[in-house]
Order: sequence, then structure tokens, then C-alpha cells
Amino acid sequence: MTNILVINAGSSSLKYQLIDIDQEQIIAKGICERIGIAKSVLSYKPANGESFEKESPMKTHEDAIKLVLDVLTDKEIGVISDMSSIRAVGHRVLHGGEKYSAPVLIDDHVLEAIEECIPLGPLHNPANLMGIRGCMAAMPGVPMVAVFDTAWGQTMPAEAYMYALPYEAYTEYKVRRYGFHGTSHRYVSGQAVKKLVALGMKKEETRVITCHLGNGSSLSAVKGGKCMDTSMGLTPLEGVPMGTRCGSIDPAIIPYLMGRTGMNTQEIDAYMNKKSGMLGVSGVSSDFRDLAAATKQGNERAALARKMFCYKVRQYIGAYAATLGGVDAIVMTAGVAENDAYIREMILQGLEYLGMDMDWEFNLSCPRATDLEITKPTSKVHVYVIPTDEEMTIARDTAELALNA
Ligand code: AMP
Repeated sequence: MTNILVINAGSSSLKYQLIDIDQEQIIAKGICERIGIAKSVLSYKPANGESFEKESPMKTHEDAIKLVLDVLTDKEIGVISDMSSIRAVGHRVLHGGEKYSAPVLIDDHVLEAIEECIPLGPLHNPANLMGIRGCMAAMPGVPMVAVFDTAWGQTMPAEAYMYALPYEAYTEYKVRRYGFHGTSHRYVSGQAVKKLVALGMKKEETRVITCHLGNGSSLSAVKGGKCMDTSMGLTPLEGVPMGTRCGSIDPAIIPYLMGRTGMNTQEIDAYMNKKSGMLGVSGVSSDFRDLAAATKQGNERAALARKMFCYKVRQYIGAYAATLGGVDAIVMTAGVAENDAYIREMILQGLEYLGMDMDWEFNLSCPRATDLEITKPTSKVHVYVIPTDEEMTIARDTAELALNA
């Protein structure tokens, strides 16, 4: 058994998964919440056992990691005998700027680079650093790998990543499209490319559009396995509307609304990131399950929110078909696209002109969150549902870098 610990640290939370990379199996997973706040809670779920939750003080991320290691090695409910069986740790890191286009073994230079990128990821990068430093303190000598969300977007050509602002916005302030959900787009596009190659295509010629549609949503145009464009930008706010985020809007709306309402920069930021999207339009919820239920009951704003979402996703698919000069496969992944067949139908209806021949009945009846094709076998363009697996991808990257060195 070769165990890799995967860490996704937020400002007051820390998600973890212990993965046996030989079998590619999750051994245990969980989350520490309310780190640095009163009533911190650790939750823990071993693959073959009962879930467990415990209130325990965690002042820092290091305290949280120590508790995770304690529970993983606990004599009664633990899954490993001691800490030394954890061979490496993989950390999800939001922003690597233009420095990193691939996962990297963490050393002092990498820590500095993550720190330098704090202005670009002011909420996430400090939290990611706390997670890394907490692990380093609790597990000295264990190799650590950083897997950057932004690495995927580094292959975009300049015409795709530049904004038409004065050039110094890019040179002085690093304003450009970076893109996010990189680990997910990389994994599912890789799976789709494998399927296309098995059908006889050359890898370099494959044209894939990946739709990561979850609470946050983004699309990516992928040629020969490389990202050519992606819908999120300098921050994860750009692109399609999301659970609570507005996605792309006329930028002049911001000064207009600030002038009309008196909102300051933090307030307008929260307005666009936390109060908009599906929640803002529907007034019901950010969750697509709630929107579907409200739509069924005749709630017109919930129906409108869903339609707006599908319309924008469909527009991006059309735009990315133009970017790629056609499309061979469209991938549907993440919470909404893996589970909600009606949303898939609303997005894909009307895209037949691209060359897809949908099996609409199968789309509705197929099992959820399962790797499958929802186009007919003779379809020129293949539409795949591929469950994303960011943690396993991080674990694979970590094993490759830390154990094969
Ligand atoms: P993710 O960000 O990938 O974890 O996706 C989370 C989102 O997926 C939730 O907020 C829901 O909106 C959506 N979701 C999860 N399960 C379903 C389902 N059965 N039907 C529709 N939407 C779902």
C-alpha cells in the first residue's frame, strides 16, 4: 500500500483524503471545519467504517493536521498503523500565476512563489500556505507537492488570455486570464482524448470541449490535450453564471451599481460572488436540485435562472467550437452536469448542427455520475459524461513527482 494524503485547505477549513495510490482507492476522507474559530469540528469517514465527528479545538491548520493524523492512526477507528506509512502529501493550490504550468515538488522557492501570488488569490493562497506549512510542521521530511488550479491555463495563446486593457495592466499588475478548475479539466479532457484515440484519432488532432458544471462552473477548449481557452479569468468570477456568482457581465454595471447603491468595493465583490447567479436570479437557492423542484412548482424565476445558465453554457460551446475549428467530443462533468439530465438536455438541444446525434432517451435514463456516452454510436461528435476526480488526479501527480524522483 502506497499512501498519499491529499489536502485542500481553505481559510477556516481543511479537506483531506488518504488514498492508496497502488489500488487508486480512497482509504479515508473528511474535513476539519471552523479552524481558528470556536467549536472546531473534525469529521472522518473511513472507506470501510462508520462516519465520525468530533468537536475539538483547532487554533491553526497545524492543529487540524495533527488531529487528522491522530484519527488516521487511531488504534480503534484509524486506517493506518503509523504516520510513516504516508509517503507524500499533495496540496491543491489555487494560484501559481504564470510561474507554474505543472505540479511541482514544494521547496522554499515554491513557497515564495505561492506567497507572491497572494494578490491574485487573496482568499485561497494564504489558506493553501497555512495547509502546507501545517503539514510540514506535523510531518517533517515527508515530500509535498503543489498542484495548481491555474497551471492548466498556461498553454493558452496570448490572444485568448489577454484582456484588451492598456498593456501595463498585464505587465505591471499581472491582469490576464488564468482559468480555474484546471485539475478537473485536465483529468476529464485526458479521459476523453483516450476515448477518441481508441476510436482511431491522432491525439494531436483531438478537439474537446470540457464543461465543468458544479457549484462553480467553467468550460475549456482543448486541442491535442492542451488548453486553448477557458471561461474563468483573472478570478473564478468570469464565464457562465454559477450557483452564487454572476459570471461575465457588462463591466460598466459595476461602477453604475456602486454609484446608484453606495456599495463599496468589498460589497460589490460580495454582491457578484455570493448573492448573484442562480441564487440571485431565482431568489430560491444556489443549488440546482432546489431550482428544479421550484421550477416544477411553477416558480418562474427559478425556471429563468436555469434557462440563463443553459443558454450561456451553450454559447460557450459554440464559441469554443469556433476556437478549435470544430469539435470531436464534449465532456459533461461535476455535480450539475454529472447528475442533472434535464440541464444537459437544455444545454445540448440545438447544438445538433455541430454534428452530434444525441440519444435523448438514454440521456434521461442513464445512471448518474457514471462514465458513459450519451450520443448515438454513429454520432460524429461524442458527448461523454465523465465524473471528475480532482483528489485522485492530485494523488497521481503527487506520487509521480514525490515517489519517482
Ligand atoms: P460540485 O461543485 O461539483 O460539488 O457540484 C455541486 C452542485 O451540484 C450542487 O450545488 C448542486 O447544484 C448540483 N447537484 C448535485 N447533485 C445533483 C442532482 N442530483 N441534480 C441536480 N443537481 C445536482
